[in-house]
Amino acid sequence: MKVLFAVWEIAPFFKMGGLGDVAQSLPAALKELGVDVRVITPGYRVVHYDFSHAKPLLNTTVNYDREEESVSVFQVDHPTCHVPVYFVQNETYLDMADDEIDTFAFFDKAVVELVKTGSLGFTPDIIHCHDYHTGLIPLLIKDHRLPIKSILTIHNLAYQGRTGLHILDKLGISHRKSRVLGWEIKSRQVNMLMEGIIHADIATTVSPTYAREILKEEYGMGLDEVLRGKEGRVFGVLNGISVNLPADDRVAFRKDLTVSGSLPEAIDTNQLDTFLAKKREAKRALQKELGLIVSDELPLSCFIGRLDPGQKGLDIFHKMLRRIDLEHHEFVILGSGSPEWEQKFQWLCAFYPKHVSCTFTFNELLAWKMYAACDFIVIPSKFEPCGLIQMLAMYFGTIPIAHKTGGLIDSISHGINGFLFDRYTSLSLERAYNKAIYLRRSKKDEYLQMVSNALATDFSWGKSAGEYVRLYEKLLTL
Ligand code: ADP
Repeated sequence: MKVLFAVWEIAPFFKMGGLGDVAQSLPAALKELGVDVRVITPGYRVVHYDFSHAKPLLNTTVNYDREEESVSVFQVDHPTCHVPVYFVQNETYLDMADDEIDTFAFFDKAVVELVKTGSLGFTPDIIHCHDYHTGLIPLLIKDHRLPIKSILTIHNLAYQGRTGLHILDKLGISHRKSRVLGWEIKSRQVNMLMEGIIHADIATTVSPTYAREILKEEYGMGLDEVLRGKEGRVFGVLNGISVNLPADDRVAFRKDLTVSGSLPEAIDTNQLDTFLAKKREAKRALQKELGLIVSDELPLSCFIGRLDPGQKGLDIFHKMLRRIDLEHHEFVILGSGSPEWEQKFQWLCAFYPKHVSCTFTFNELLAWKMYAACDFIVIPSKFEPCGLIQMLAMYFGTIPIAHKTGGLIDSISHGINGFLFDRYTSLSLERAYNKAIYLRRSKKDEYLQMVSNALATDFSWGKSAGEYVRLYEKLLTL
Protein backbone atom coordinates (compact mmCIF):
# COMPACT_ATOMS: atom_id res chain seq x y z
CA MET A 1 0.00 0.00 0.00
CA LYS A 2 1.45 3.35 -1.05
CA VAL A 3 0.53 6.46 0.93
CA LEU A 4 1.65 10.02 0.37
CA PHE A 5 1.41 12.33 3.40
CA ALA A 6 0.79 15.92 2.33
CA VAL A 7 1.53 18.25 5.19
CA TRP A 8 2.84 21.79 5.71
CA GLU A 9 5.12 21.08 8.72
CA ILE A 10 7.25 18.15 9.76
CA ALA A 11 9.73 17.94 12.63
CA PRO A 12 12.66 18.33 12.83
CA PHE A 13 12.75 20.27 9.54
CA PHE A 14 10.00 22.77 10.34
CA LYS A 15 7.60 22.66 13.26
CA MET A 16 5.02 25.10 14.59
CA GLY A 17 2.95 22.77 16.79
CA GLY A 18 1.67 19.25 17.30
CA LEU A 19 1.08 18.61 13.58
CA GLY A 20 4.84 18.81 13.01
CA ASP A 21 5.31 16.03 15.59
CA VAL A 22 2.58 13.85 14.08
CA ALA A 23 3.98 14.26 10.55
CA GLN A 24 7.22 12.84 11.85
CA SER A 25 5.99 10.07 14.12
CA LEU A 26 2.92 8.64 12.37
CA PRO A 27 4.73 7.83 9.09
CA ALA A 28 7.41 6.10 11.16
CA ALA A 29 4.79 3.89 12.81
CA LEU A 30 3.05 3.20 9.48
CA LYS A 31 6.35 2.18 7.95
CA GLU A 32 6.79 -0.34 10.79
CA LEU A 33 3.43 -1.82 9.75
CA GLY A 34 4.61 -2.28 6.18
CA VAL A 35 3.04 0.79 4.54
CA ASP A 36 5.18 2.41 1.83
CA VAL A 37 4.69 5.93 3.14
CA ARG A 38 6.33 9.13 1.94
CA VAL A 39 5.88 12.74 2.92
CA ILE A 40 5.53 15.78 0.69
CA THR A 41 5.94 19.23 2.22
CA PRO A 42 6.87 22.80 1.22
CA GLY A 43 10.60 23.48 1.04
CA TYR A 44 10.46 26.87 2.75
CA ARG A 45 13.70 28.74 3.21
CA VAL A 46 13.45 28.31 7.01
CA VAL A 47 13.45 24.51 6.73
CA HIS A 48 16.32 23.09 8.76
CA TYR A 49 18.12 21.41 5.91
CA ASP A 50 21.01 22.55 3.80
CA PHE A 51 19.76 22.25 0.22
CA SER A 52 22.80 24.02 -1.21
CA HIS A 53 24.72 20.76 -1.73
CA ALA A 54 21.72 18.63 -2.64
CA LYS A 55 20.70 17.77 -6.18
CA PRO A 56 17.02 18.18 -7.01
CA LEU A 57 15.10 15.02 -7.81
CA LEU A 58 13.39 17.04 -10.54
CA ASN A 59 12.78 20.51 -11.93
CA THR A 60 9.45 21.23 -13.51
CA THR A 61 6.71 23.85 -13.80
CA VAL A 62 3.26 24.10 -12.29
CA ASN A 63 0.56 26.29 -13.77
CA TYR A 64 -0.91 28.63 -11.15
CA ASP A 65 -2.71 31.91 -11.63
CA ARG A 66 -2.10 31.55 -15.39
CA GLU A 67 1.67 31.52 -14.92
CA GLU A 68 4.09 28.64 -15.37
CA GLU A 69 5.81 28.56 -11.99
CA SER A 70 9.21 26.85 -11.66
CA VAL A 71 9.24 24.06 -9.12
CA SER A 72 12.15 22.01 -7.79
CA VAL A 73 11.66 18.88 -5.73
CA PHE A 74 14.30 17.51 -3.35
CA GLN A 75 14.07 14.03 -1.91
CA VAL A 76 15.54 13.76 1.59
CA ASP A 77 15.80 10.78 3.91
CA HIS A 78 14.10 11.66 7.23
CA PRO A 79 16.82 11.66 9.91
CA THR A 80 14.93 9.59 12.48
CA CYS A 81 12.40 7.41 10.67
CA HIS A 82 14.13 7.22 7.27
CA VAL A 83 10.91 7.80 5.38
CA PRO A 84 11.51 9.69 2.09
CA VAL A 85 10.48 13.34 2.35
CA TYR A 86 9.84 15.39 -0.81
CA PHE A 87 10.46 19.12 -0.39
CA VAL A 88 8.69 21.26 -2.98
CA GLN A 89 10.41 24.57 -3.68
CA ASN A 90 9.06 27.57 -5.53
CA GLU A 91 10.28 31.13 -5.20
CA THR A 92 6.94 32.89 -5.59
CA TYR A 93 4.75 30.94 -3.19
CA LEU A 94 6.81 28.53 -1.10
CA ASP A 95 9.74 30.69 -0.10
CA MET A 96 8.34 31.94 3.18
CA ALA A 97 6.47 29.91 5.77
CA ASP A 98 3.36 32.03 6.14
CA ASP A 99 -0.35 31.47 6.30
CA GLU A 100 -1.22 33.03 2.94
CA ILE A 101 -3.92 31.07 1.14
CA ASP A 102 -1.85 31.17 -2.08
CA THR A 103 0.96 29.31 -0.32
CA PHE A 104 -1.28 26.35 0.38
CA ALA A 105 -3.37 26.49 -2.78
CA PHE A 106 -0.19 26.49 -4.84
CA PHE A 107 1.31 23.67 -2.79
CA ASP A 108 -1.87 21.58 -3.20
CA LYS A 109 -1.85 22.09 -6.94
CA ALA A 110 1.85 21.21 -7.12
CA VAL A 111 1.28 17.97 -5.16
CA VAL A 112 -1.51 16.85 -7.46
CA GLU A 113 0.43 17.79 -10.63
CA LEU A 114 3.53 15.96 -9.41
CA VAL A 115 1.51 12.85 -8.66
CA LYS A 116 -0.43 13.08 -11.91
CA THR A 117 2.67 13.30 -14.06
CA GLY A 118 4.39 10.50 -12.13
CA SER A 119 7.48 12.65 -11.85
CA LEU A 120 8.13 11.72 -8.21
CA GLY A 121 8.66 8.14 -9.33
CA PHE A 122 6.07 7.20 -6.68
CA THR A 123 2.39 6.85 -7.46
CA PRO A 124 0.39 6.66 -4.25
CA ASP A 125 -2.82 4.70 -3.79
CA ILE A 126 -3.85 7.23 -1.19
CA ILE A 127 -3.01 10.85 -0.44
CA HIS A 128 -3.33 11.55 3.27
CA CYS A 129 -4.02 15.28 3.74
CA HIS A 130 -3.67 17.19 6.98
CA ASP A 131 -5.68 20.28 7.96
CA TYR A 132 -6.88 23.09 5.73
CA HIS A 133 -3.44 23.68 4.23
CA THR A 134 -3.91 20.57 2.13
CA GLY A 135 -7.69 20.75 2.01
CA LEU A 136 -7.88 21.45 -1.73
CA ILE A 137 -6.05 18.26 -2.69
CA PRO A 138 -9.16 15.99 -2.58
CA LEU A 139 -11.02 18.42 -4.87
CA LEU A 140 -8.06 18.64 -7.26
CA ILE A 141 -7.83 14.83 -7.34
CA LYS A 142 -11.49 14.69 -8.39
CA ASP A 143 -11.08 17.54 -10.84
CA HIS A 144 -8.21 15.70 -12.55
CA ARG A 145 -10.08 12.36 -12.27
CA LEU A 146 -7.08 10.66 -10.72
CA PRO A 147 -7.54 7.06 -9.56
CA ILE A 148 -6.30 7.98 -6.10
CA LYS A 149 -8.18 7.92 -2.81
CA SER A 150 -7.91 10.74 -0.32
CA ILE A 151 -8.21 11.01 3.42
CA LEU A 152 -8.23 14.28 5.35
CA THR A 153 -7.18 14.42 8.97
CA ILE A 154 -8.49 17.42 10.89
CA HIS A 155 -5.95 18.39 13.52
CA ASN A 156 -7.74 21.62 14.33
CA LEU A 157 -11.17 22.64 13.08
CA ALA A 158 -10.61 26.25 14.15
CA TYR A 159 -8.37 26.99 11.18
CA GLN A 160 -10.32 26.70 7.93
CA GLY A 161 -8.63 28.78 5.25
CA ARG A 162 -11.45 30.93 3.94
CA THR A 163 -10.88 32.91 0.77
CA GLY A 164 -12.57 34.35 -2.30
CA LEU A 165 -13.65 32.44 -5.40
CA HIS A 166 -10.67 33.78 -7.33
CA ILE A 167 -8.66 30.93 -5.82
CA LEU A 168 -10.57 28.50 -8.08
CA ASP A 169 -9.53 30.53 -11.13
CA LYS A 170 -5.94 30.44 -10.01
CA LEU A 171 -6.16 26.66 -9.68
CA GLY A 172 -7.91 26.34 -13.03
CA ILE A 173 -11.05 24.80 -11.54
CA SER A 174 -14.33 25.77 -13.13
CA HIS A 175 -16.78 27.32 -10.67
CA ARG A 176 -19.52 25.07 -11.99
CA LYS A 177 -17.57 21.86 -11.84
CA SER A 178 -19.02 20.52 -8.65
CA ARG A 179 -22.37 20.59 -6.93
CA VAL A 180 -20.81 21.56 -3.64
CA LEU A 181 -18.83 24.31 -5.23
CA GLY A 182 -22.03 25.51 -6.81
CA TRP A 183 -23.56 25.77 -3.35
CA GLU A 184 -20.50 27.46 -1.91
CA ILE A 185 -20.46 30.03 -4.67
CA LYS A 186 -23.60 31.51 -3.14
CA SER A 187 -21.58 32.50 -0.07
CA ARG A 188 -18.88 33.94 -2.35
CA GLN A 189 -16.29 32.08 -0.30
CA VAL A 190 -14.14 29.01 -0.63
CA ASN A 191 -13.43 27.27 2.65
CA MET A 192 -10.41 25.03 2.19
CA LEU A 193 -11.11 22.79 5.16
CA MET A 194 -14.73 22.35 4.17
CA GLU A 195 -13.71 21.45 0.60
CA GLY A 196 -11.38 18.87 2.10
CA ILE A 197 -14.06 17.38 4.33
CA ILE A 198 -16.56 17.15 1.50
CA HIS A 199 -14.29 15.86 -1.24
CA ALA A 200 -12.05 13.51 0.76
CA ASP A 201 -13.23 9.91 0.70
CA ILE A 202 -12.81 9.74 4.47
CA ALA A 203 -12.26 12.39 7.14
CA THR A 204 -10.63 11.72 10.47
CA THR A 205 -9.75 13.72 13.49
CA VAL A 206 -7.19 13.16 16.17
CA SER A 207 -9.18 11.71 19.04
CA PRO A 208 -12.45 9.78 19.36
CA THR A 209 -13.97 12.38 21.71
CA TYR A 210 -13.17 15.31 19.41
CA ALA A 211 -14.67 13.30 16.52
CA ARG A 212 -17.96 13.24 18.43
CA GLU A 213 -17.68 16.82 19.70
CA ILE A 214 -17.27 18.39 16.27
CA LEU A 215 -20.61 16.99 15.14
CA LYS A 216 -22.23 19.39 17.61
CA GLU A 217 -22.77 23.09 17.06
CA GLU A 218 -20.78 23.97 20.19
CA TYR A 219 -17.54 22.57 18.79
CA GLY A 220 -18.31 22.38 15.08
CA MET A 221 -16.94 25.85 14.19
CA GLY A 222 -19.69 26.21 11.60
CA LEU A 223 -18.86 22.89 9.93
CA ASP A 224 -20.89 20.57 12.18
CA GLU A 225 -23.61 20.25 9.58
CA VAL A 226 -21.11 19.36 6.85
CA LEU A 227 -19.50 16.82 9.17
CA ARG A 228 -22.85 15.31 10.12
CA GLY A 229 -23.58 14.98 6.40
CA LYS A 230 -20.55 12.74 6.13
CA GLU A 231 -21.94 10.26 8.63
CA GLY A 232 -20.11 6.95 8.68
CA ARG A 233 -17.07 8.52 7.07
CA VAL A 234 -15.74 10.57 9.99
CA PHE A 235 -13.47 8.73 12.40
CA GLY A 236 -11.47 9.64 15.49
CA VAL A 237 -8.03 8.13 15.93
CA LEU A 238 -6.00 9.19 18.95
CA ASN A 239 -2.57 10.63 18.21
CA GLY A 240 0.46 9.04 19.79
CA ILE A 241 3.98 10.26 20.46
CA SER A 242 7.38 8.95 19.54
CA VAL A 243 10.01 10.61 21.61
CA ASN A 244 13.34 11.76 20.18
CA LEU A 245 15.09 13.14 23.21
CA PRO A 246 17.93 15.62 22.79
CA ALA A 247 21.30 14.44 24.10
CA ASP A 248 21.15 16.76 27.10
CA ASP A 249 21.79 15.40 30.61
CA ARG A 250 18.86 17.32 32.10
CA VAL A 251 16.49 15.45 29.82
CA ALA A 252 18.15 12.30 28.53
CA PHE A 253 17.96 10.57 31.94
CA ARG A 254 14.42 9.45 31.04
CA LYS A 255 15.97 6.93 28.66
CA ASP A 256 17.38 4.99 31.65
CA LEU A 257 13.92 4.24 32.96
CA THR A 258 12.42 1.18 31.36
CA VAL A 259 8.68 0.88 31.63
CA SER A 260 7.20 -2.42 30.64
CA GLY A 261 3.80 -4.04 30.82
CA SER A 262 1.08 -2.76 33.09
CA LEU A 263 1.20 -1.57 36.68
CA PRO A 264 2.14 -2.37 39.42
CA GLU A 265 5.13 -4.28 38.00
CA ALA A 266 5.65 -1.85 35.15
CA ILE A 267 8.51 0.02 36.79
CA ASP A 268 11.34 -1.40 38.85
CA THR A 269 11.32 0.48 42.20
CA ASN A 270 15.09 1.06 42.29
CA GLN A 271 14.98 2.45 38.78
CA LEU A 272 12.03 4.64 39.74
CA ASP A 273 13.90 6.05 42.75
CA THR A 274 16.90 6.88 40.55
CA PHE A 275 14.59 8.49 37.99
CA LEU A 276 12.83 10.61 40.63
CA ALA A 277 16.18 11.77 42.02
CA LYS A 278 17.19 12.85 38.50
CA LYS A 279 13.84 14.57 38.06
CA ARG A 280 14.46 16.55 41.25
CA GLU A 281 17.91 17.49 39.91
CA ALA A 282 16.31 18.62 36.66
CA LYS A 283 13.84 20.70 38.67
CA ARG A 284 16.61 22.44 40.60
CA ALA A 285 18.54 23.08 37.38
CA LEU A 286 15.50 24.61 35.68
CA GLN A 287 14.62 26.77 38.69
CA LYS A 288 18.19 28.05 38.71
CA GLU A 289 18.31 28.63 34.96
CA LEU A 290 15.07 30.62 35.01
CA GLY A 291 15.88 32.63 38.15
CA LEU A 292 13.19 31.02 40.32
CA ILE A 293 13.62 30.03 43.97
CA VAL A 294 15.47 26.72 44.02
CA SER A 295 13.30 24.46 46.14
CA ASP A 296 12.15 20.84 46.10
CA GLU A 297 9.08 21.71 48.13
CA LEU A 298 7.55 24.49 46.04
CA PRO A 299 5.26 22.96 43.41
CA LEU A 300 6.57 23.70 39.92
CA SER A 301 3.99 23.72 37.12
CA CYS A 302 4.32 24.54 33.47
CA PHE A 303 2.29 25.72 30.51
CA ILE A 304 3.65 24.95 27.03
CA GLY A 305 1.91 25.87 23.80
CA ARG A 306 0.76 28.35 21.24
CA LEU A 307 -0.62 31.47 22.94
CA ASP A 308 -3.92 31.18 21.11
CA PRO A 309 -6.62 32.84 23.24
CA GLY A 310 -9.39 31.14 21.28
CA GLN A 311 -8.19 27.66 22.15
CA LYS A 312 -5.57 27.36 24.83
CA GLY A 313 -7.47 28.61 27.87
CA LEU A 314 -5.23 31.61 28.51
CA ASP A 315 -8.05 33.60 30.12
CA ILE A 316 -8.90 31.10 32.85
CA PHE A 317 -5.25 30.27 33.46
CA HIS A 318 -4.30 33.92 33.82
CA LYS A 319 -7.27 34.55 36.13
CA MET A 320 -6.25 31.67 38.35
CA LEU A 321 -2.66 32.94 38.52
CA ARG A 322 -3.90 36.34 39.57
CA ARG A 323 -6.01 34.84 42.33
CA ILE A 324 -3.68 32.36 44.01
CA ASP A 325 -0.84 33.42 46.29
CA LEU A 326 2.05 32.96 43.89
CA GLU A 327 4.59 33.22 46.72
CA HIS A 328 3.79 29.54 47.45
CA HIS A 329 3.91 28.29 43.90
CA GLU A 330 6.10 28.34 40.81
CA PHE A 331 5.00 28.51 37.19
CA VAL A 332 7.02 28.36 34.01
CA ILE A 333 5.32 29.44 30.82
CA LEU A 334 6.65 28.74 27.34
CA GLY A 335 4.72 29.85 24.30
CA SER A 336 4.36 32.40 21.60
CA GLY A 337 1.45 33.96 19.77
CA SER A 338 -0.86 36.71 20.90
CA PRO A 339 1.25 39.78 21.89
CA GLU A 340 -1.59 40.94 24.12
CA TRP A 341 -1.44 37.75 26.19
CA GLU A 342 2.35 37.74 26.22
CA GLN A 343 2.14 41.13 27.87
CA LYS A 344 -0.44 39.97 30.41
CA PHE A 345 1.69 37.02 31.48
CA GLN A 346 4.82 39.19 31.44
CA TRP A 347 3.22 41.37 34.10
CA LEU A 348 3.02 38.37 36.43
CA CYS A 349 6.74 37.72 35.90
CA ALA A 350 7.46 41.36 36.71
CA PHE A 351 5.59 41.11 40.01
CA TYR A 352 6.76 37.61 40.94
CA PRO A 353 10.15 37.18 39.25
CA LYS A 354 11.15 34.38 41.64
CA HIS A 355 7.89 32.48 41.13
CA VAL A 356 6.81 32.98 37.54
CA SER A 357 8.98 32.69 34.45
CA CYS A 358 7.82 33.42 30.91
CA THR A 359 9.62 32.62 27.67
CA PHE A 360 7.84 33.84 24.56
CA THR A 361 9.80 32.03 21.86
CA PHE A 362 9.79 28.61 20.26
CA ASN A 363 12.46 26.75 22.21
CA GLU A 364 12.44 22.96 21.91
CA LEU A 365 15.20 22.29 24.41
CA LEU A 366 13.51 24.44 27.03
CA ALA A 367 10.26 22.57 26.38
CA TRP A 368 12.01 19.25 27.05
CA LYS A 369 13.59 20.62 30.21
CA MET A 370 10.16 21.73 31.41
CA TYR A 371 8.52 18.36 30.72
CA ALA A 372 11.39 16.70 32.58
CA ALA A 373 11.57 19.05 35.57
CA CYS A 374 8.02 20.04 36.44
CA ASP A 375 5.66 18.45 38.93
CA PHE A 376 2.55 19.44 36.98
CA ILE A 377 1.52 20.68 33.56
CA VAL A 378 -1.54 22.92 33.32
CA ILE A 379 -3.68 22.42 30.19
CA PRO A 380 -6.70 24.72 30.44
CA SER A 381 -7.65 24.47 26.71
CA LYS A 382 -11.21 25.46 25.86
CA PHE A 383 -11.13 22.73 23.23
CA GLU A 384 -8.33 20.33 22.37
CA PRO A 385 -8.54 18.05 19.32
CA CYS A 386 -5.92 15.74 20.81
CA GLY A 387 -3.05 17.55 22.52
CA LEU A 388 0.42 16.09 22.71
CA ILE A 389 1.77 18.08 25.62
CA GLN A 390 -0.06 15.96 28.21
CA MET A 391 1.48 12.82 26.68
CA LEU A 392 4.99 14.30 26.54
CA ALA A 393 4.62 15.49 30.15
CA MET A 394 3.36 12.12 31.40
CA TYR A 395 6.29 10.45 29.68
CA PHE A 396 8.34 12.33 32.29
CA GLY A 397 5.94 11.63 35.18
CA THR A 398 4.68 15.22 35.09
CA ILE A 399 1.03 15.20 36.10
CA PRO A 400 -1.48 16.97 33.81
CA ILE A 401 -4.20 19.22 35.21
CA ALA A 402 -6.47 19.60 32.21
CA HIS A 403 -9.90 20.69 31.03
CA LYS A 404 -12.21 17.75 30.39
CA THR A 405 -12.46 18.10 26.64
CA GLY A 406 -11.46 16.41 23.37
CA GLY A 407 -8.33 14.30 23.31
CA LEU A 408 -7.54 15.26 26.90
CA ILE A 409 -10.43 13.00 27.94
CA ASP A 410 -9.09 10.16 25.81
CA SER A 411 -5.55 10.36 27.17
CA ILE A 412 -5.94 11.32 30.85
CA SER A 413 -7.68 9.15 33.46
CA HIS A 414 -8.90 11.45 36.21
CA GLY A 415 -7.41 10.51 39.58
CA ILE A 416 -5.24 7.80 38.02
CA ASN A 417 -2.60 9.60 35.97
CA GLY A 418 -3.83 13.18 36.07
CA PHE A 419 -6.64 15.58 36.87
CA LEU A 420 -9.54 16.67 34.67
CA PHE A 421 -11.82 19.59 35.51
CA ASP A 422 -15.34 19.78 34.13
CA ARG A 423 -16.30 23.37 33.67
CA TYR A 424 -14.34 25.87 31.61
CA THR A 425 -13.90 28.39 34.43
CA SER A 426 -10.92 29.66 36.36
CA LEU A 427 -12.52 28.42 39.59
CA SER A 428 -12.92 24.92 38.27
CA LEU A 429 -9.27 24.97 37.12
CA GLU A 430 -8.17 26.33 40.49
CA ARG A 431 -10.01 23.60 42.38
CA ALA A 432 -8.28 20.92 40.32
CA TYR A 433 -4.93 22.64 40.78
CA ASN A 434 -5.43 22.85 44.57
CA LYS A 435 -6.36 19.15 44.67
CA ALA A 436 -3.17 18.30 42.82
CA ILE A 437 -1.04 20.44 45.12
CA TYR A 438 -2.70 18.92 48.19
CA LEU A 439 -2.06 15.39 46.94
CA ARG A 440 1.62 16.12 46.37
CA ARG A 441 2.08 17.78 49.75
CA SER A 442 -0.08 15.65 52.02
CA LYS A 443 -0.58 12.25 50.36
CA LYS A 444 2.89 11.44 49.11
CA ASP A 445 2.20 7.74 48.40
CA GLU A 446 -0.89 8.45 46.37
CA TYR A 447 0.93 11.19 44.49
CA LEU A 448 3.86 8.89 43.68
CA GLN A 449 1.43 6.21 42.53
CA MET A 450 -0.05 8.78 40.16
CA VAL A 451 3.43 9.64 38.88
CA SER A 452 4.14 5.93 38.23
CA ASN A 453 0.78 5.57 36.50
CA ALA A 454 1.60 8.51 34.26
CA LEU A 455 5.02 7.04 33.45
CA ALA A 456 3.42 3.71 32.60
CA THR A 457 0.70 5.09 30.32
CA ASP A 458 1.33 3.87 26.80
CA PHE A 459 1.16 6.66 24.22
CA SER A 460 3.12 4.87 21.52
CA TRP A 461 1.69 4.96 18.01
CA GLY A 462 1.31 1.18 17.57
CA LYS A 463 -2.45 0.87 18.16
CA SER A 464 -3.44 4.10 16.40
CA ALA A 465 -1.21 3.42 13.40
CA GLY A 466 -3.00 0.06 13.09
CA GLU A 467 -6.32 1.93 13.01
CA TYR A 468 -5.03 4.14 10.17
CA VAL A 469 -3.96 1.05 8.24
CA ARG A 470 -7.48 -0.37 8.62
CA LEU A 471 -8.92 2.93 7.37
CA TYR A 472 -6.53 2.89 4.39
CA GLU A 473 -7.66 -0.68 3.61
CA LYS A 474 -11.30 0.40 3.85
CA LEU A 475 -10.56 3.35 1.54
CA LEU A 476 -9.18 1.07 -1.14
CA THR A 477 -12.43 -0.89 -1.21
CA LEU A 478 -14.63 2.22 -1.62
P1 ADP B 1 -1.04 22.22 19.08
O1 ADP B 1 -0.94 21.17 18.01
O2 ADP B 1 -2.40 22.76 19.28
O3 ADP B 1 -0.01 23.30 18.91
P2 ADP B 1 -0.12 20.07 20.84
O4 ADP B 1 -0.24 19.88 22.31
O5 ADP B 1 -0.75 19.01 20.01
O6 ADP B 1 -0.69 21.51 20.49
O7 ADP B 1 1.41 20.12 20.39
C1 ADP B 1 2.26 21.16 20.71
C2 ADP B 1 3.69 20.75 20.34
O8 ADP B 1 4.44 21.93 20.10
C3 ADP B 1 4.40 20.00 21.44
O9 ADP B 1 5.41 19.19 20.87
C4 ADP B 1 5.04 21.15 22.24
O10 ADP B 1 6.15 20.72 22.98
C5 ADP B 1 5.45 22.07 21.12
N1 ADP B 1 5.50 23.49 21.47
C6 ADP B 1 4.47 24.37 21.53
N2 ADP B 1 4.90 25.61 21.82
C7 ADP B 1 6.23 25.52 21.94
C8 ADP B 1 7.27 26.46 22.21
N3 ADP B 1 7.00 27.75 22.43
N4 ADP B 1 8.55 26.02 22.23
C9 ADP B 1 8.82 24.71 22.02
N5 ADP B 1 7.90 23.78 21.75
C10 ADP B 1 6.62 24.17 21.71
